[in-house]
Order: sequence, then C-alpha cells, then structure tokens
Amino acid sequence: MLSIAFAISLFGGAPSLTDTVNTLKAKGLGELGAYRLLEELSGGIGPRIAGSENAARAVDWGEATMKKLGFQNVRRIPCMVPHWVRGKVEKLEVGGIPLSCCALGNSLGTPAGGIAAPVIEVHSLKEAEALGARAKGKIIFFNRPFDSSLVSTFNAYGTVGDQRFQGPSVAAKLGAAAALVRSMTGDNDDVSHTGTTGFGSGAKVPCVALGLQSADRLSHILKGAPETEVRLTLDCETLPDVQSADVVGEIVGTERPNEVIVMGGHLDSWDKGRGAHDDGAGVVQALDALRVIHDLGWKPKRTIRVVLWMNEEISGTGSAAYLAYAKKAPERQLAAMESDSGGFAPRAFGTSLTGRRAARLNRWLPAFQTLEVDHFTPGGESGADVEGLAELKTALFGLEVESQRYFDYHHSDKDTIDKVNPRELQLGSLNMALLAWLISENGI
Ligand SMILES: [Zn+2]
Repeated sequence: MLSIAFAISLFGGAPSLTDTVNTLKAKGLGELGAYRLLEELSGGIGPRIAGSENAARAVDWGEATMKKLGFQNVRRIPCMVPHWVRGKVEKLEVGGIPLSCCALGNSLGTPAGGIAAPVIEVHSLKEAEALGARAKGKIIFFNRPFDSSLVSTFNAYGTVGDQRFQGPSVAAKLGAAAALVRSMTGDNDDVSHTGTTGFGSGAKVPCVALGLQSADRLSHILKGAPETEVRLTLDCETLPDVQSADVVGEIVGTERPNEVIVMGGHLDSWDKGRGAHDDGAGVVQALDALRVIHDLGWKPKRTIRVVLWMNEEISGTGSAAYLAYAKKAPERQLAAMESDSGGFAPRAFGTSLTGRRAARLNRWLPAFQTLEVDHFTPGGESGADVEGLAELKTALFGLEVESQRYFDYHHSDKDTIDKVNPRELQLGSLNMALLAWLISENGI
C-alpha cells in the first residue's frame, strides 16, 4: 500500500511524485533505450582506451548521439590524454610453463628477448620496502588476495588497490627488474585484469597482472623453491599524448538555466573486453535518462546536463578539463552524479551530503524504492569524475549497485555486453533520471 506522504504532490500543481515515477517507469522499461545505446558503444565501437582510434570514435559517437537524441548545446571540452599501447606480446613463463598475464597501463616494455630474474613474493607495500637491497634486479610479486569476508566487493577492491597502483612504483624505486601483481578480482578463474599503475615522474618497470590461478601456481612454486626465476616479455609502449575531449549536451532549464545538474559516466574504457560495465553502462544510462525526460516533453526548471568524461581510467584529464570549465563558466554546478560501478541492479545513491541536507533526500525515498534504490548513503562515494566538483560545493551522487559480479568482469576480456542485463541497466538509468528531475524541480 502506498503511504499518504508518497501520494501527496510535492510540486503544488505539478504531477505527484507517484505520477512522475510511474511515467518514467512505463517509458523507460517499455523501451529499454539504454541497452540499445550500449549495443552501439560497446557492441559496435568496442574497447576504447584513452588515446586510441576507438576512443576518438567514441567521442564522435557521443556527440552524434546527443544531437540525434535532441539535446541542446552539444559540444566537446578538449583535453590531452596519454597514449599507452599494449602491443602484441605478453608472455610470462616459469620453467617454460606459460602463466596468464596482461600488462598494466603505463607499464614499460621489456627488451625483445624478455627479462629473466628470480621472483620474491610479498603481500604488502611495506613488506616490499623492507626487502631493501635484496630487491635489486629481482621481480617483485604482490600477491595479497581480495578479502572474501567483505560483503561489498568494492570494499574488497579497495583493500588491494595499493598493490596495483603503487606496487610497481615501489619495486622500481628498489631497483627491481619488474613487478607482478595478483589481479584485483575475487573470481577464481585464470583471466587477468588490467588497470592503471602510477609511476609519477619516478622510475618505471615492466609490470603485469596475473590471473588468480596463475598467481596461486606461482606462489605454490615459490614455497617449494624460493626465488625461482621467471621470464617476462612485453612489447607495450607509451607514445606522445594526443588531443581528445569530453562530450557535453543538455536540456536548458526554463527558470534557472544557470543552475546545472550534471550526470554521466566515462567514455574511455580499458583495451581488454569491450568496456560494457566499465563504463559503457554509465554512459548510456546518463544518455537515456536525459532522452526519456526529453521525449516525455518535460521541461526542467534547471539545466540537466549529460557529461561523458574522457580518460578516467589512466589519468583523469577529462574530469580535470570539466572542472576547469566549471570554475570559469557563469553557472552553478548544483549537483553531479556518476554511474561507474557497472550496469547492475541499483541499490542506493552515495551522496556527499550529510546531516539535515542528506536527511531531506529521504522525502523522495518512496519513489526511488519503487525503482529498487533503497536508501541514500550520507558521506558515501560519488565517482572519480565528479568528486573534484566538491571544490565548487556541488552536491555529489554516485549510483550504488549490486556488487557481487562487477570485479569478475572489471578491466578484463570478460567485460562484454552479454554480461549486462537490459532491465537492470535501465533501472539505474531511471533512478538517475528521477534524481536529476527532482533536483531540477525542487533544488537540493
Ligand atoms: Zn570505470
């Protein structure tokens, strides 16, 4: 049964919250437009690592799609992006037996014949640093697993992130020859999961992620024979930076056009798989959220804008470009939301709001609950592309989703469109549409 509060109109003469959400649901779930767009982006264009030809195609597609959908002020915000290329050779062998691996983004290549060196296994950056001079010329193997006792896999991911992002840099500083990192996944197959590693302006080494079975096999060998030698061969390389862009389009507000509600995802992906969940899902959810509002003929009081950010995965230059634009533009970034946790069934919105401002969101909860968003998480995560807007006092939101499968696919050959459920994807999009619409009509 519906509560009385739910049935009461929040808009005076405007449609009730119940009518609003029912209209959105009927249109969105009837048409499943987000999945059709995902077929074009992830199915058609495919993997689109920053700097690649496919990333340039994705920018063209984003711009053409926004125009086709009837958005206003469709434009690009230019940004420079790195151009790291995986190459064709990725080989890791122990005693002539191949192990499953893939290079991490920013990795150096090896000489053509590869590098052969003894391996030392560690489980933390501290343990690696404690090796001191012993690490020189060796290959450091970071093998701390996901904490399987954590229910949210995003939390588990967070507890191993330092190994991939900082491990190779720590190894390089110690004079190691290379670094191996256990893939950041809980899925116990042998597929390797890439991701960026950060060297800053410091020394670099060749570095790869290992599939979990390969990581376990190597660990087992090292227990019997410490410092067993492996051979690593990679031909990845870093080319000069290239020009790319964020893509922006909007529906201009009828009453307060200079107050802007931003929603989006990142247009780039990794070069493994086809960037379906990460982050084709967020891109098409935002596009279809605004399409639904547009096609219903709703005229928002405030401007609702879709931003498709470039280069989230490697160095975030797209979000920096949007922030620089936002600082100068004669407008207020009232709210910004990102979907970058995969196109799974929605569960909640993380929000930067806390205290009374966060509590006020709960008056809208009954409507969100009919779309499977159960709560707002005050002080929760938003998204890598929007969190910089905190500087402008923007209210930030991140779509939280059912998390059990995301890291099975994340940054790997398995991130393909067949892993995305059209209705789950659309429900996320509808929650974004509803939140954007309610903020446009009521403020925040
Ligand atoms: Zn992502």
